[in-house]
Amino acid sequence: MKILVLNSGSSSIKYQLFDMPAETVLASGVMEQIGEAQSRLTHYTRNSKGEMEEIVKAEPVADHQGGFQLIGAVLSESGAVQDTNTLSGIGHRVVHGGEEFREPTLINDKVIETVRRLSPLAPLHNPANLTGIEVAMQSAPDVPQVAVFDTAFHQSIPIYAFRYAIPQDLYEAHHVRRYGFHGTSHHYVAKQAARLMDRPLNSLNLISLHLGNGASAAAVKGGISIDTSMGMTPLEGLIMGTRCGDIDPAIIFYLKRKTGLAGDEVESILNQDSGLKGICGVNDMRQIEELAQAGNSQAQLAIEMVCYRIKKYIGAYYAVLGRLDALVFTAGIGEKSPLIRAGSCRGLSHLGIEIDPEKNNQKSKKAFEIQTRGSTVKVLVIPTNEELEIAEQTLACIQNL
Ligand code: ADP
Repeated sequence: MKILVLNSGSSSIKYQLFDMPAETVLASGVMEQIGEAQSRLTHYTRNSKGEMEEIVKAEPVADHQGGFQLIGAVLSESGAVQDTNTLSGIGHRVVHGGEEFREPTLINDKVIETVRRLSPLAPLHNPANLTGIEVAMQSAPDVPQVAVFDTAFHQSIPIYAFRYAIPQDLYEAHHVRRYGFHGTSHHYVAKQAARLMDRPLNSLNLISLHLGNGASAAAVKGGISIDTSMGMTPLEGLIMGTRCGDIDPAIIFYLKRKTGLAGDEVESILNQDSGLKGICGVNDMRQIEELAQAGNSQAQLAIEMVCYRIKKYIGAYYAVLGRLDALVFTAGIGEKSPLIRAGSCRGLSHLGIEIDPEKNNQKSKKAFEIQTRGSTVKVLVIPTNEELEIAEQTLACIQNL
């Protein structure tokens, strides 16, 4: 069964075509700069030897409709799929599912309306995700389409963990609460951890650390998310590439008074100019590690602060889980930075978390264990694959039709 996974942004569409349930990637790519003078489609497809080959199309594409059509044409040209209307299913990444969506959901008009209604909670993402859905529904009307929500995995978080201590009526009228994000990734790596440990997921207590440009921690008890560090928006929690993570909310009002900046200007600083970038001027961890190595004290501080914040979350989630079976590192930094993994776990041997430096320094595209023999908690590095998780969930959803 051929399943296309779409991740639509405001000026881009990322996609992957899977043969399921074999989990084979038949093609993938990204359509970028939609609506600009020079749009670009970079497409990867399998050649006759089974190797991935790149095809680039640079031509103006006015809108998402044109983008989807070009993707369909390239998929068909390269023989990956005859016509997008012959796909078995299309899975869409949708960032915010509010309190309405706990599961992957077959898309109909009502679902589209609900996702639209939730847009104020994710103004940068939901409208773009919706455009992708509408375009794909128009272009491939015979194909069942499924929305997979970043927030869904965290809908199991109990009320005492998802409510903020602000007046009840603000929660009720304006839906101010913790939703959490990266749910597709946390769910995927939790399932992979269970497979790796050869244990049923519902018997496992995990702390999952998704450390990419955006970063979040999740406490997973018996396979279910019971807390996560991102909140009503993806600004809360760990220190990220350009986002501040946890701060005293009074800082916002203080800054407004002191600098005369408007609320949305402060919001933009906290989202785009803070985090690693705010501390040392650079938001790419590879570069920061090089600068730190060369003696740059701001880069060294950024690394120290990132690791300290992660360690605080490990401690907090260990306390709420009671027993911890495994700590999982994933996403760009989690998968590829031994320095951040070591720094985050330094001094945690009293909690049974101990990393073996040699194992930690290995490079692998597959999952691997990095704990010492004496560590009672397993420490796992697991490559995330949100697209595959969306394909799996789409398949599960359409199989029930
Ligand atoms: P996104 O959230 O955009 O999907 P990724 O999961 O790709 O981000 O993670 C991006 C981060 O991973 C960047 O900070 C990048 O510098 C970091 N990263 C990638 N490779 C390495 C590496 N070898 N060592 C340290 N950091 C790395």
